[in-house]
Amino acid sequence: MNPTIPPEFDHPTFRLAVAQFDQAVSHMALDPNLLERLQSPQRALAVSIPVKMDDGHVKVFRGYRVQHDLSRGPTKGGIRYHPTVTLGEVSALAMWMTWKTALAGLPFGGAKGGVAVNPNNLSSNELERLTRRYISEIFHLLGPNKDIPAPDVGTNAQTMAWVMDTYSQLVGFSVRDVVTGKPLSIGGSLGREEATGRGVVEVTIEALRQFQFSVADTTIVIQGFGNVGSHAARILHEEGAKVIAISDRFGGLYNPKGLDIPAIFNERQREKSPLPSFTQFGEPILDEDLLTLPCRVLIPAALAEKITKTNAPKIQCQFLIEGANGPTTLEADAILDDRGITVVPDILANAGGVIVSYFEWAQDAQRFSWEESHIHSRLRTIITQAFGRIFHQAQDKKLTLRTAALISGIEEVARAHQCRGLYP
Ligand code: NAD
Repeated sequence: MNPTIPPEFDHPTFRLAVAQFDQAVSHMALDPNLLERLQSPQRALAVSIPVKMDDGHVKVFRGYRVQHDLSRGPTKGGIRYHPTVTLGEVSALAMWMTWKTALAGLPFGGAKGGVAVNPNNLSSNELERLTRRYISEIFHLLGPNKDIPAPDVGTNAQTMAWVMDTYSQLVGFSVRDVVTGKPLSIGGSLGREEATGRGVVEVTIEALRQFQFSVADTTIVIQGFGNVGSHAARILHEEGAKVIAISDRFGGLYNPKGLDIPAIFNERQREKSPLPSFTQFGEPILDEDLLTLPCRVLIPAALAEKITKTNAPKIQCQFLIEGANGPTTLEADAILDDRGITVVPDILANAGGVIVSYFEWAQDAQRFSWEESHIHSRLRTIITQAFGRIFHQAQDKKLTLRTAALISGIEEVARAHQCRGLYP
């Protein structure tokens, strides 16, 4: 165990986030007085969430909300519903949100929330009661100028509508800007649902362009077909790329000639079956085999630590674009770097979600809606400028894109701490 990690946060994903941070800091002249402050969260709350289940018995779930750094503005970060959620995992995700918002120049600090629950095992009524009780337990941390949640794994626009309603009921009036990723009718933004996937595509196009490749006919493999993976697949297909394999938690689907992504979308709308059962579009493939398929671009868009020292030596892509948070272990990162594979890190590649969440928050505060074309073009400008800046810094200083991106985020946060000083 890393001696600097307090035991309450110890978890493989948190160790990964701290190791990445330490690696980036080793290339910087960071004030040693700031180091320990940035290594662990500023605030972390653990709550018990009693929920009356449909059969009348009460089940207690564990929930968390972590605010990693508050120096640059209100904190921002998603809410995850997954059975393996822990305080340590949520803390890692909150730390990554701090660097992500800072490197994109958004006026937020990083936060994350989570409940240890398998949402697929709960009815819609049970999920609503769980969400409302969770929000009431963490209520005092939340607010449009304090901490603004958003969707993540296992949550969606409906969950965010319950978040908005619960917060609004507790304060006695409607507060639209307390949460992002909401339905349009209560202050959601055009383009938010697909924003993370769209940002992944923008970054993929930029990375390809730097190496004189075009997206047309580029072969793509995507792990995870949820919010991030499915929209990335759809938009890449529209851009002319050949998406040859996709997967969900049940396994994958592979077609070397290119999958018919729009038809798969339509079929999934009609029937919510696991992807490997859609054999009319391709052949089933195991998730571990999908990761090692020859392709130009591999996009992990499921969960953390899927690219490991075991599969990294066999991965056959040229570009690995991290749609998910923390999909690559530290050992795998070093192997991919040695093998000359360009890794575009999560805090840059999947920043599209929080960028458009920022637009949603700003629109709600202004009581004014932006057109979808404006949202797409502002997203493109912010994420491609961030990519260009990080890419050139990495080249100039002979760093990986991950280290350059982390340095950019950490420097921004350090500047805020430096000028605010230490209270009291
Ligand atoms: P989601 O719940 O909508 O989808 C997750 C997908 O991953 C599902 O298709 C699920 O079946 C699949 N999956 C789970 N385990 C898998 C496995 N072992 N192999 C293959 N597929 C598996 O979640 P999401 O919102 O798309 O988030 C995915 C990742 O992107 C997470 O790491 C999340 O933190 C990150 N992310 C999400 C957003 C956002 O706006 N939703 C923003 C930034 C980053």
